[in-house]
Amino acid sequence: MVLLNVEELSIRFGGILALDSVSFSVEKGEIFSIIGPNGAGKTTVFNCITRVYEPIQGSIMVKGRDLMSMQPHQVISQGVARTFQNLELFATMTVMDNLLVGQHSRLPYNILQAVFRLPKASDQEKTGIIRALEVLEFLGLSIYKDTPAASLPYGIKKRVELARAMVSRPDLLLLDEPAAGLTNEEVSTLAGVIRDLRDNQGLTILLVEHQMNLVMEVSDRVCVLDFGRKIAEGPPAQVRKDPAVVQTYLGSSGAST
Ligand code: ATP
Repeated sequence: MVLLNVEELSIRFGGILALDSVSFSVEKGEIFSIIGPNGAGKTTVFNCITRVYEPIQGSIMVKGRDLMSMQPHQVISQGVARTFQNLELFATMTVMDNLLVGQHSRLPYNILQAVFRLPKASDQEKTGIIRALEVLEFLGLSIYKDTPAASLPYGIKKRVELARAMVSRPDLLLLDEPAAGLTNEEVSTLAGVIRDLRDNQGLTILLVEHQMNLVMEVSDRVCVLDFGRKIAEGPPAQVRKDPAVVQTYLGSSGAST
């Protein structure tokens, strides 16, 4: 079953055609990676899916629903969550509060119910806390629950960012350079976490990443962008031998191992 279908997606920033008729589809339960040199358009794909950017052309369907007709805040209710290339945690808030803060916009009660702590609000809050604890446990973060985000090591902050995306129980998780800045050991652990998310949490994963070792290890399929155009797609072993891909990477410093 196709979970995400992107067709003929194009977007322009001034004179730059950042995406030029990009199409790909991701099957439920797949780990699908988008790679390419700096500026190839990878994060722009994420920003189009999450409706932050408005494409000039194309369609984006998740579970058969058209995201193009939705507002950014509605995308999350379609089961789509993301992490950011640059950490977007609230530095002075605890790990737990960072996980809970995003939930308020999604809770099905109004502000008066929250302020007066009417039963519906408190039940939803309890459910939110239980879910956050569950995610922290799954990602081995329980011991950091009450720690302010700012005081955590970088690798743990990256994992908290992932935890925050998980709280909404997404079907499709968009990971934007989750390995950036991690040590080799942390990258190996991350590979296991990504597989676990698919195997044990039923997630479909769209990964943007420069760390080729990670991409080649975890991906079922890889799509390669260069200057906004798709130049290759297929299983990792096939893509790494593709002449256009080899040429792109030989001619740039955009990939690291
Ligand atoms: P990197 O690997 O460096 O993160 P990327 O493949 O994710 O690169 P994008 O960030 O998607 O690349 O950028 C693609 C192109 O679109 C680049 O030329 C970038 O400068 C341009 N671009 C992206 N967002 C904007 C924006 N908001 N305004 C203007 N140009 C933009």
